[in-house]
Amino acid sequence: MGNLKDKVIITAALCGAGTTKAQNPNVPITPEEIAADVVACAKAGAAIVHLHVRDENGVNSMEPSRFIEVVTLARKACEEAGVDVIFNCTTSGGKWPEEKRLGHLPELLPEMCSCSPGTMNWSNSYVFLNTPQFIEKLGTLTQELKIKPEIEIFDAGMMGNLNYYIKKGFIAEPPHVQFVLGVTGGMPGNIESLSYLLPKLPEGATWSITGIGKSHMPMMLAGLAAGCNGLRVGLEDNIYMEKGVLATNVSLVERAVELCKVVGREIATPAEAREILGLVKQK
Ligand code: ZN
Repeated sequence: MGNLKDKVIITAALCGAGTTKAQNPNVPITPEEIAADVVACAKAGAAIVHLHVRDENGVNSMEPSRFIEVVTLARKACEEAGVDVIFNCTTSGGKWPEEKRLGHLPELLPEMCSCSPGTMNWSNSYVFLNTPQFIEKLGTLTQELKIKPEIEIFDAGMMGNLNYYIKKGFIAEPPHVQFVLGVTGGMPGNIESLSYLLPKLPEGATWSITGIGKSHMPMMLAGLAAGCNGLRVGLEDNIYMEKGVLATNVSLVERAVELCKVVGREIATPAEAREILGLVKQK
């Protein structure tokens, strides 16, 4: 089965908090649409699905009941389709109370959840808020619940913070880092950013990368060139296949699979991804 460390873990970030059907009608919004895309992306080669949920009006929601509805439906759909996938639920949502942002985790026990170790002005439009108290609480809770945090790094300062939280014991070693580059307000999606960040990765860390919008494809290529453990794709990050051609989540996963083949890397199955990342499947 080849060397596990050489395999690429593909994450599909299906809808995010803000992408709308007006921008791309293929964005899954309802629980049924999200569940269908989970199955389709798993079949196409994604080992992990990164989930946000929306309310009945399509607006971003951190209501735990909504997460429970969506993930329960998606788990059932996967079971019926005979596919395996790792669930990674977001915890971001600065304007929501902390207990809502964490409320779905003990209920659902997903294998992974996002954890952004810092705050920034998101695209000059709102505060992407992660207070030190919230990060400590999230770090402690994920260790108690045996959920592996995916450390989302948007900006340089977050890398220093990751090392701080590891030293303080709030984040366990080795961490899994997801570079999300190209959000205005954070680091741009380019080689300079990646070259700055990579040497600062904690010992033994695994890492994945995505570029937002125009930097999507360049950052995948840069990640593969630099020996990434994972690629993240999906309509949360990028809505186009090429200029003027709208993507689907599946088409983005398929293209990532193809890119890995081109550079001679094998795709990690969910079982292999669990081994690489040290995940604990509880549900
Ligand atoms: Zn997300």
